[in-house]
Amino acid sequence: MGARLCVVGAGVAGAGIAYALRGTDVDVTVLEKSRGVGGRAATRRRDGRRYDHGANYLKSTDPRNAELLDSIGREGLVDVTEPVWLFDADGRVRPGDDRDERKWTFETGITRLSKRLFAHTDATIRKTTRVERARRTADGWTLRDTDGHDHGPFDAVCFTPPAPQTADLLAETTVEPVAGTDASVKREEETAANASTPEEETAALTTLTEAVSSIPYRTIRTIVLGYDERIERPYYALLNEDREHPVGWLAREECKDGHVPDDESLLVVQMSPAWSTEHYDEPLTEVASVAANHAADLLDSDRVRDPDWVDDQGWRYALPDDGIDPSTARTLEPAGLYLAGDWVAGADRLHAALWNGVETGERIGERLGEPTG
Ligand SMILES: Cc1cc2nc3c(=O)[nH]c(=O)nc-3n(C[C@H](O)[C@H](O)[C@H](O)COP(=O)(O)OP(=O)(O)OC[C@H]3O[C@@H](n4cnc5c(N)ncnc54)[C@H](O)[C@@H]3O)c2cc1C
Repeated sequence: MGARLCVVGAGVAGAGIAYALRGTDVDVTVLEKSRGVGGRAATRRRDGRRYDHGANYLKSTDPRNAELLDSIGREGLVDVTEPVWLFDADGRVRPGDDRDERKWTFETGITRLSKRLFAHTDATIRKTTRVERARRTADGWTLRDTDGHDHGPFDAVCFTPPAPQTADLLAETTVEPVAGTDASVKREEETAANASTPEEETAALTTLTEAVSSIPYRTIRTIVLGYDERIERPYYALLNEDREHPVGWLAREECKDGHVPDDESLLVVQMSPAWSTEHYDEPLTEVASVAANHAADLLDSDRVRDPDWVDDQGWRYALPDDGIDPSTARTLEPAGLYLAGDWVAGADRLHAALWNGVETGERIGERLGEPTG
């Protein structure tokens, strides 16, 4: 039997890890607290409509993205061709310049990216499983969920939740002495050379936890406004360029094929971090009318003030404002503890999280795995 890996979190980083290990004998189990995969690259369905209420799309910025889409399949891929325009603190709108960038999602939503990556793997995904602590003993790593169930033992674990949630997990993680050499590790000499005492590992865990918990995040409250008529504009989305407006981003979801019926409009309004933090817990009815009024002013349309239905999603830990030092992030890899995600990559982007997951998976494969067939 191959080595066993537990990944906490089924966002794109977790999917990237599993995808990178698909050609090896590493047995991957993913524990995910929510009911679906994708994490912040999320899609919601409502009465035949679909909307990406977290990440909006995957950009072509990283040339590996196009190759990856070729590998996992472009069926149902949507390339949003309408441009992103800009607006300032006073609500003045002007054309932007994003002509060279592709903006990809799927007809079934951005969550399809993680679903498709996982579909190319044999990973076991246990949903609605929120991990609250991890413990390494001589048998390996065991993870306990909030229902009191233990998962494991595993030869290695990888935490991928946003940094504050990973810091909570690290604070509840213990490393106990390991008797003898870990037989599952391929390069035993390397392991021996890197061997640390349990005291050193515990000290490293404390330092790591402090480093992870210090990473700042922006909060975003997404407000969704639905209209039973099409409101045409020459752009897909409006981006606040000076970060001084209560709205950070406003997108017309109907520009994504397969998302919105032809005779409807659906606006995804991401409120600014300052506004979102201040109004995070206010009732949807109140914040929706504020968002609708801002949207009406930006789109110069009174019809927009009166949506036919509304929805929302709060993202407490939406976007990391900084990344962890890469060597600090890897401190406990010799002990089988890995970290991955956008905050490990040091960029608040989907592709950064994805490729950080892939690269972490490749390192795990080199250390613990053997190629199969
Ligand atoms: C509103 C918004 C808009 C964005 N727009 C864009 C965009 O247009 N373009 C772009 O490139 N990026 C965008 N991003 C950023 C992008 O979504 C993220 O960078 C990327 O999705 C991060 O992926 P991840 O796998 O690192 O983390 P996540 O997607 O957060 O995945 C972590 C997973 O861990 C799970 N989890 C957490 N705690 C536990 C636990 N204790 N036990 C088990 N599971 C747990 C979570 O449920 C989640 O599924 C946006 C983000 C937000 C919130």
